[in-house]
Order: sequence, then C-alpha cells, then structure tokens
Amino acid sequence: MEPVDRATIWPYDESGEPRDFYYSRYGSPTVADAEARLGELEGGEAVLFPSGSGATTALVLSLLKPGDTIALAEGCYFGTGVTFQALAKWGLGYVEFDQTGPPPDDVQLVWLEAPSNPFLTMPNLAAAAAHPAPVVVDSTVATPIHLRPLEHGADFALHSATKYLAGHDDALLGAVAGHKLDDLRTFRSQTGISPAPDPAWLLLRGLKTLDLRVRRQTETATDLAERLRAHPKVTVVRYPGIGGLLSFDLADGAAARRVETSTKLVVNATSLGGVTSVMESRYRWEGDRVPEGLLRFSAGLEDADALWADLGRALESA
Ligand code: PLP
Repeated sequence: MEPVDRATIWPYDESGEPRDFYYSRYGSPTVADAEARLGELEGGEAVLFPSGSGATTALVLSLLKPGDTIALAEGCYFGTGVTFQALAKWGLGYVEFDQTGPPPDDVQLVWLEAPSNPFLTMPNLAAAAAHPAPVVVDSTVATPIHLRPLEHGADFALHSATKYLAGHDDALLGAVAGHKLDDLRTFRSQTGISPAPDPAWLLLRGLKTLDLRVRRQTETATDLAERLRAHPKVTVVRYPGIGGLLSFDLADGAAARRVETSTKLVVNATSLGGVTSVMESRYRWEGDRVPEGLLRFSAGLEDADALWADLGRALESA
C-alpha cells in the first residue's frame, strides 16, 4: 500500500502548470486512491467527504434549490432527517414515505436506505427508479458486497464510510458513488467539504477486508437473529437477511437499559459496522420515533457462540 500522503500542496510542473494535485482541498493522492477503489466496488465513480452526514449535505445542496422537496424513507437513519431539518431554513423541505412502495409525486429527490437503520426495511428500488426525480440510496448497511444501487437504477449510492467500509471504528468518512460526478466534486472543492488523507488511508486498508468482514458479520447476524426470535423475552426481531445489523424489542425501556448495560463482550456504544459488536437502545437518541424497548445490534467479528452466550446472559435481566 502507498504510504499516506499528508501534503496540502504539490509543486507545479516545469512550465509552471498545476499537475493532477496542487492543493488538497481540490484533491489529494490518498483520497483519490480510496475513491478509485470504492468506485470500482460500486460500479461507478466515488467522491469522499469528511463524514456520511457531510456527504448528505453536499449531495443535497449540489442537486437541489430553495423550494425543492425530498421524499425521505421513513424509519431511516435518524440523523438524515436531522440534517434535512438543519437545511430547512434554506428552503429545502422533506416528506417521509414508506420506501417499500412508490415515492410520492412532486418531489425533486428520492432518498432511500438499504436496509433502513434501525427498522431494517428494504427499499423498492424498481418503484423508485420509475420516479422522475433522481434517486439516492444510503447503502451504508448493505455495502457493495450485498447491493450495488447504481445497477438497480439509482443515481447515487451514499455511504457513511465510518461504518462497514472503513470498518474499525477509527475513521470518520462519507462517500457518494455515481456516474459523472464532476459537478459534485467541484461543489465539494468550492464549499470546502473535503476529506482528510488519514481517514482515506484507513478506508483503503479497510476495503481490503470488506468482503471477508461483511460476509462474516452477515453470517453472525443471521445466526443471532434466529436465536433472538426463539427467545421468550424478545417480542420482535428485525433482520432483512443481509448485512450485520439487526434490531429487536424487549418489553419496555427499563428492560432494554438493563440488557444493554449487562453485556461484557458486546460494547454498549453507538454506531455500527465495526469489527467490535455494539448494541444500544435507540430510544435515547430518537425518542418516540422508535419503541422504548428497541435495541440495535451491530455484529462484529467475534465468535457467534460467544456473542450469543453474552447476549443470552444479559437477556436474563430483561
Ligand atoms: N447513514 C447511515 C445509515 C448511518 O447509520 C449514519 C451514521 O450513523 C450516517 C448515514 C451518517 O454518517 P456519519 O456518522 O459518518 O456522518
């Protein structure tokens, strides 16, 4: 692997003209390498951003204008709605819809999530692709190992690369994949929503093991979903059969709090997609948007039997 290039400037050529890289806000070698690799995985080109939310902001602002409305998949990542609310004073609105059916008319952008976090519904990509507005699929949880949205008619695939793509809970990054992304790239340079080289290097390293990690996490999540479904204290299990993320419900918020704080191997923390299994009650962040007893679980790379032993022990306190 190339070492990380932390320079912010590179010399012009002998005739005084800029080479490919000249000032890092416009692009840098390590970022460009990571973008090329991710582009290959998604079947298009990719543009990196400092976080998934930064990617969301840049994409929306570059595509839309005041007065435009986004159709947002209901039950998708809570923070995406928070970002859209923050943009409301610039005249951008959003309406939520059930992504398992067609998007509403009279919207200028369709925003899906595959699968949604934490409700784990899968979008109806064919119905969305038939809509005249551009379609974005937040594919953070599916990853290109399970889904390549551009092959299903989506215009853009968006990632919190902080999660599975980088994969080790030590890099904050976002990405947009698509075709002909020059306008988005220019917008990124103009607005300065540019990624740093160190997280991009961690992303490059993470992508080398993406396939192995995601397949193992999917196996583990499939196994644990089945065991949770058979557990008497668990009322609902949500797992779409792909990816390492699932959620399940206990009777109430107090039971969820007891269980999330009782595990030893599974870390009680936010986020998802890393090599360490994490679990948390989403009620603390999302309030009444989710059941009080909902726990979100992200499978890491630990042994599935050891994880079940840990979860089973913690569930005794439910
Ligand atoms: N999309 C999904 C599905 C997420 O889970 C998250 C973060 O939790 C984001 C986007 C936002 O990404 P970031 O935290 O990298 O800004």
